[in-house]
This record gives sequence, structure tokens and C-alpha cells, in this order.
Amino acid sequence: MNRAVVVGAGVLGACVAYHLARAGTDVVVLEEAGPASGTSGATFSADVTHLKTPHAYYRLNRQGSDGHRALAEELDGPQWRHPAPIVQWADNDDAQRALHERATRVRKWGHDCRTEPASVLRELAPAVDPTACAADEVVVHTGTAWFDAPRLVHALLDAAVRLGARTHYGTRVTGLLRSGARVVGVEAGERRWGADTVVNCAGPAADQIAVLAGARLPLRHVPGLVAESAPLAEQPLTAILSAPGIDLRPTTDGGVLALSWEVDARLTGTAADGLPQELHRRGRTVVPGMGGARIAAARIGVRPVPLDGLPLVGEAETAPGLYHLVSHSAVTLAPVLGRLAAQEITGGRRAQELAAYRPERAVDGDVQDENLRAMNRRAGRGDGNSEGQL
Ligand SMILES: Cc1cc2nc3c(=O)[nH]c(=O)nc-3n(C[C@H](O)[C@H](O)[C@H](O)COP(=O)(O)OP(=O)(O)OC[C@H]3O[C@@H](n4cnc5c(N)ncnc54)[C@H](O)[C@@H]3O)c2cc1C
Repeated sequence: MNRAVVVGAGVLGACVAYHLARAGTDVVVLEEAGPASGTSGATFSADVTHLKTPHAYYRLNRQGSDGHRALAEELDGPQWRHPAPIVQWADNDDAQRALHERATRVRKWGHDCRTEPASVLRELAPAVDPTACAADEVVVHTGTAWFDAPRLVHALLDAAVRLGARTHYGTRVTGLLRSGARVVGVEAGERRWGADTVVNCAGPAADQIAVLAGARLPLRHVPGLVAESAPLAEQPLTAILSAPGIDLRPTTDGGVLALSWEVDARLTGTAADGLPQELHRRGRTVVPGMGGARIAAARIGVRPVPLDGLPLVGEAETAPGLYHLVSHSAVTLAPVLGRLAAQEITGGRRAQELAAYRPERAVDGDVQDENLRAMNRRAGRGDGNSEGQL
């Protein structure tokens, strides 16, 4: 029987562990804290397929998005996939034009999106103050969803355990066992686990796991803040909104989750003094019902962002036996990346879909993903006067 050790219990670790266990692999998941305690517990976690370029990367995200639907039917437990339209608008001509250009592009790629008069907000998102949208038209994406990422992680790990996987929380991997160049297991303090494959799903700490094998993973660490409101008293939010300077989505218990790249640009270290309040204030200008709901939680997550913006997936050339599985937008991508990685690890064919994302490719810092280029620009500007992230 093949043995795999998965390092990290975020969306990627949970998804690959589930698919490995399903394929009959002897799986051990080692997690330094608890399930979804890293970035997957502090994320906006909307389906971001429509943002992705180039076309092949869009298609990969589309497979991720479709994979969520399939997994939602396959797994028991509380639902984590929440279908909702994405509604976008901007507050200046350039940004509005960019939204329309993107809509035209993804429509050509078969994406379900359209331009509508702004009055459609009354129907799709009655919780929105109509005066918050000065644009005549909005872009509406349908077939989209937001995800409760911690619930997804728990559902996948529970299913993996039912299939025989073992989980060890509070277990920090501190070293890799080697036989020559080959990685043959891990150590966590005094404990050791042998494995045919060690799967590096440590998210923003994945580069540190790579260093243990003398390898380098070209990652940037980009912090982001999300603030969650208590449940709204009256009209709940029914759409995912990308408004100027603020993104908003519903939460599982009827509140609203807020994110803003301009606010993220003001994050220093881990301190978020006053910034959750700033997110809440921005949110209230769009969804007035947030005014009567206190801030229930605020979290900072660190985005693991490969230098060219695209995933890093595959066995390390210099350290066979170590398989990297790292990506930004990994909530959207987890179902497809977890499935394809498990297929490669269990000795199936090398997945053609992953050929462009091998960890050893030349990553010269040119960001391939247009969405990340925009994030870099806006976060750098931090002037609070632009589009939302989505
Ligand atoms: C503010 C924000 C907004 C986002 N919005 C979206 C979005 O809308 N859509 C989307 O698809 N994505 C979004 N993302 C990105 C997405 O959340 C991440 O790509 C994803 O959560 C990464 O998952 P992961 O499993 O790779 O990493 P993580 O969830 O960080 O999991 C890694 C785990 O490894 C553990 N670990 C680390 N080192 C060790 C070690 N040595 N030993 C044992 N365990 C270890 C950690 O404790 C952690 O639990 C967003 C991220 C942020 C921060």
C-alpha cells in the first residue's frame, strides 16, 4: 500500500488527503494547529474563476468550481457551497470599462455573465442601498458561489478519516527524512513517519517545508483582513458584491463578510487596529443593515502567492518523494488540484492540466494572472478609490 504524509490541514491538504484515501493510500495528515487554522480559516472564499487569466488557468479554475458541485453531492455533513450571483460595479469610467472588457472576455470563454441595468440590484440583492451604486449598469455572474472553507475542510477530513486516514493535530513538522536525495518521511520533534510521498500543503509556510529539503519555492506572503458582522436583523445579503473599495458576501449565519484590497494595503505585520472598523464602515455604505450588526470577528490570513501568480504543483525535481501543492485562490481550486495531485501521487498518469504549474518552472516575477496584477497595483496605491477585488 502506498503511504503518504500530508503536511497541513487547510483546503489543499484536506482535499488531497480525501482523494488519496479514496484511492486506497495509507494517509497521515500532520497539522501544526487544527483543521483550517491557517489561511483557509481567514479567507473571503468566493468562487473567483471569472477573474483568472490566461485562458488555461481560467479553465483550471472552472474545473475547481465544477469540482465543488461534485464534492457537495459526494460528501455528507453541513453544506459549505452557497450558490449566489456575483454583482460588480465601479465608480469611474476606466474601472467600469475594465469590468465590461472582462465580462466580454469570459463570456467568450463560455462563462455565464451578463450586463444588467443597476436596478437589477433590487431583485438580486435587496439588502443593498440603491444609492450606493452610481453606475448605470452592473456586471452579473451567475452559476457562482461562496464557500464556507472551514466547513469544507472538516467535511473532507471527516470523509478521509472514514476511509482510513489518520490525523494528528498540534503536530508541527520540523524535518524531512532522507535516503540520498529522496524524501522518505517526516519528523515532528521526536516522532517520525515514513512515507512514499510527503505532500507539502503548508500554505504560506510551504516555502519553509521546501527549505527542509534544500529546495526553494518562489512564494510571496500577502496578508489580508476579513471582518465578519453579526447576523443582519432584517434583510439578509443574497449576493456576492464587488463594489468600489469593498467586497461583501453573506456568511453562514446571516451576517456579512467584508474584504478590501485598499484596507489590506494598510495592514502592518499582524496588527489590524481600527481596520476591521474601517471594513465595517465601508460595508455599511453599501448594505445599510450592517449598521445594526456588531463586528462578530476579524481575521488576518496570509495568501500564499507564487511569484507568477500561478499554482506550484508537483514533485520536487531535486527532492523526489516531496510533492508541493501550493496556490493562491486555493479555495476555488482545491477540488481540482487535490484530485489531480492525488492521481499523480498514486502513480496514475501525469496530469496534462498541471503541466504549466510545475514548481521548477522559470518564475521570473512576471505575474501571469491579471487579477493578481490588479491586486498588486491597487494594494500598492491604497487610495480607497477603485474597484473591488472580485
Ligand atoms: C483575505 C483573503 C481572501 C481570500 N479570498 C479568496 C477567495 O475569494 N477565493 C479563493 O479561492 N481564495 C481566496 N483566498 C486564498 C485562499 O484562502 C488560500 O489560497 C487557501 O486558503 C490556502 O489554503 P492552503 O490549504 O494552501 O493553506 P492553509 O489554509 O494556510 O493551510 C496550511 C496549513 O499548514 C499548517 N502548517 C504550516 N506549517 C506546518 C508545519 N511545519 N507542520 C504542520 N503543519 C503546518 C498550517 O497550520 C495550516 O493549517 C483568500 C485569502 C485571503 C487571506
